[in-house]
Parts: sequence; structure tokens; C-alpha cells
Amino acid sequence: SLVTRFAPSPTGYLHVGGARTALFSWLYARKNGGKFILRIEDTDLERSTQESVDAILEGMNWLGLDYDEGPYYQTKRFDLYKEVVAQLLAEGKAYKCFCTVEEVDAMREAQMAAGEKPRYNGMWRDRTDHPTDKPFVIRFKNPQTGTVVIDDLIKGKIEIANSELDDLIIARSDGTPTYNLTVVVDDWKMGITHVIRGDDHVNNTPRQMNILAALGADIPKYAHVPMILGDDGKRLSKRHGAVGVMQYRDNGFLPEALLNYLVRLGWSHGDQEIFTKDELVQLFDLSACNRAPSAFNTDKLIWLNQHYMKTLPAEQVAAQLAWHLADQQLDTSNGPALTELVKAQAERVKTLKEMVAVSRYFYEDFAEFDADAAKKHLRPVALEPLQAVSAKLAELNDWTQESIHQVINATAEALGVGMGKIGMPLRVAVTGGGNSPALDLTLALVGKSRSLERLAAAIS
Ligand code: GLU
Repeated sequence: SLVTRFAPSPTGYLHVGGARTALFSWLYARKNGGKFILRIEDTDLERSTQESVDAILEGMNWLGLDYDEGPYYQTKRFDLYKEVVAQLLAEGKAYKCFCTVEEVDAMREAQMAAGEKPRYNGMWRDRTDHPTDKPFVIRFKNPQTGTVVIDDLIKGKIEIANSELDDLIIARSDGTPTYNLTVVVDDWKMGITHVIRGDDHVNNTPRQMNILAALGADIPKYAHVPMILGDDGKRLSKRHGAVGVMQYRDNGFLPEALLNYLVRLGWSHGDQEIFTKDELVQLFDLSACNRAPSAFNTDKLIWLNQHYMKTLPAEQVAAQLAWHLADQQLDTSNGPALTELVKAQAERVKTLKEMVAVSRYFYEDFAEFDADAAKKHLRPVALEPLQAVSAKLAELNDWTQESIHQVINATAEALGVGMGKIGMPLRVAVTGGGNSPALDLTLALVGKSRSLERLAAAIS
């Protein structure tokens, strides 16, 4: 059956490009009833950190990309890699190379001086006069003739002549396996049928296919996903702003929005923009992925975020909102339920972070009025309407949006003033500023005693 994997190197946070690759692999497995494996490629001991392993796991979890196996760690599989290297050596499919660094450098320089592409010339490939006291690396005996053909599921057919490839080092002089060897062994032993990864790896693929063939392994199908560009057409990087998945969480995006956004970066289904996860699982296909790189578009992500804030069940949005409230240290134990807050504010903000920023007055008293709003709306002429509405509101027994609505209307009518003369002063008095959801709803959510206290303070 079908098996895909996501194989990040834990040398930083989970980048949106990596997350998209993970998403494509995950979708492809889920769509085909296959298995999705997470493999942490942590053999670069100097650059790998536990912190970034945690960041990757956190990012996958936040996006809801669950895996059926793993996480596997390559550092725990060294015995297996060594066995495979020994097997290749014993079968004459790999060999010891005793070249010193200086010799390899000299080789390259001579080739470059002659206008040739620098590559290892295979000088130890067939030698048997091995020294016994010199360090050596182990190189794979790459075929010297013929062509490797990748039937890439996204890019189409790619052909590479073996004469272009040199004999790759598969084990260093300290015996540790190299990157291409570990990937090959794991893809083989884990039964990976579809390798979906960034197209920065496309140059490794013919080498990996040759090693797999030498091992007698089934060769998986490959799909190389084009990279993501920033708005300036250059590869997306920190210069462009947030690139880590969790940064998007911190900036107030919903996982559903980021996921929908990422899938559309490089895949399409007609002109449909919005997809539930279930729809994606049904509709996703590698054949509909773009061959060309896609450019990141923050406005579209914001548009999707607004869509999901408005349309997801309020409980689901509230669960994400809770993180932001804690992050911005807003105690919500005294105030409206988070689901009520979501319903009131979802239409009015771009992100959850913004939602918290404009909602503080529901949960805590403000220290001062917004200066502009106060100057404009809390003038002496506002005093009478505020006193009148305050007195009426104090008499209300059922503090609901409807009853509040009626009180405000009735007061405006009784005083013979328009809604503007009473609504805005009331809003500023109760929320501290000139922006809030509908006034009746706002007061209902702020609560009776808090609203009346604030009104009293504004009038005095
Ligand atoms: N570990 C590699 C990376 O993070 C991915 C290797 C692969 O997918 O084959 O770029």
C-alpha cells in the first residue's frame, strides 16, 4: 500500500515551505488510504537541536498533520546504516577511497583549470593496493554509463546521464553515513512508495535512485514540489517576514486558514479557493500541482483567516483564541464566554491577535478614554442623553441585547435626538473608544454592573 513521509532536518523552526511539503505528503497518503510517516533527519549533529525537533512536532500538531508512524530519528538508526554500507562494500558496489583532502582539492583544481566540471575521478574505484594505516571514506560505485530517468509526478520526465554523476561518499572517514545514504536506507526500509519533497532535492534523486537500485530496493515514485517565493520573486526567507508555522499562530492566524492557504500555494482545483480538510483529502492530487514556483501572498492568507474566523464553529475559533488571550495576559474569568466574543468580533478583525487587542474592555476596565473619541463624543451636550439612558438601563431586569436595544431607542425618542447623539457617547463611555460591535450587543456582553459603573464614571 501507499506510504509517504515528511523528513525534516531539525535545524530551525518548521518553515511554511516545509509545512506545505508535509501537507502534500499527508494529503496524498490520506487520500489514497495510505500511511504517512514522520522522520527526523538529525544526523547533522552540529546543526540539529532538540528545540527545533520540538518546534517541528508542535507545528505539525497545530496544523493537525497526524502521522501513522514516527517520529523516527536517524541518529537512532546508525547501526542499520552501517550494515547497509558494509553490505554494499562486501558486494563490490562501494569501495574505500584513500584520497586525502589535498588530493581531492588538487583534482578539482586541475579539472576546473581544464574547463571541466569538478568531480571525483574514481581513482580508487578499482584499486586493490589498499594501505592499512590510512583513513578512508566509502564511495558508492555509481554506474558509469546509461541514464537515470525520473518520472516526476509534478515536474514530468527528468533524465540525467550517469556520466554526469561521480562516486558519492556514503560513509565519512569516521564511519558516519552521509545524508544521501541515510535517506536511501530509510526510504527503502520504511517502504516509502512516494517521496514528496522540495525541488531543492531534485539533484540528489538520480544518485539516490542508483543506490536504491544497487540495493535491489523498489524505487519509489518522486514528486518534487516547486519552492515558495516572496513578493519580490526571491525564495521565501526571513527577509520577507514570518516564515515559521508557529509565527503564524503567534500572529493570529487559524491553522485552518494557514492549511487552506498552503495547499493553494502550488495546487489548484478549478478556481475554488476554500476547501475543508475533508474536501482536500478527497480532491488533492499531485497531477494538479504547479510546476512553477508560487509567490506568497499575505493578503490572501488574511482573507482566508477572516473567512475561517467567521465560518468555523465558534468553539473551534475560541480554542485558538484562548491561546492569544493567555499570551496577551488577559484574564477572561470575568466577562463574556469566548464563543460570544468570537461571534461579536469575527467580522471586525483580521486576526485573533487583533481580536484580543480590541476586546480588552470586555474583561477589564480601561485606564483612560481614547483621546480622540472622548473629545468628539463625550462633550457637555452628551451629558443629558447619557444620564437618561443610564437611568433607564439601571432599571432593566433582563440584561439582553433586545432589551438594551429598546432602552436606547426609547431614550433617543423621548429626548427627541437622533441615535448618533446617544449611541456614540454611550459607546465611548462603556468601551473607552469609538469602535466596538453593535452597541446593544456590546453592552450585553460587557454586563450590567460594569456598564453602569462606566457610565457613572463618564457622567461624573
Ligand atoms: N531532510 C531533508 C530536508 O529537510 C529532506 C529530505 C527528503 O525529503 O528526502 O531538506
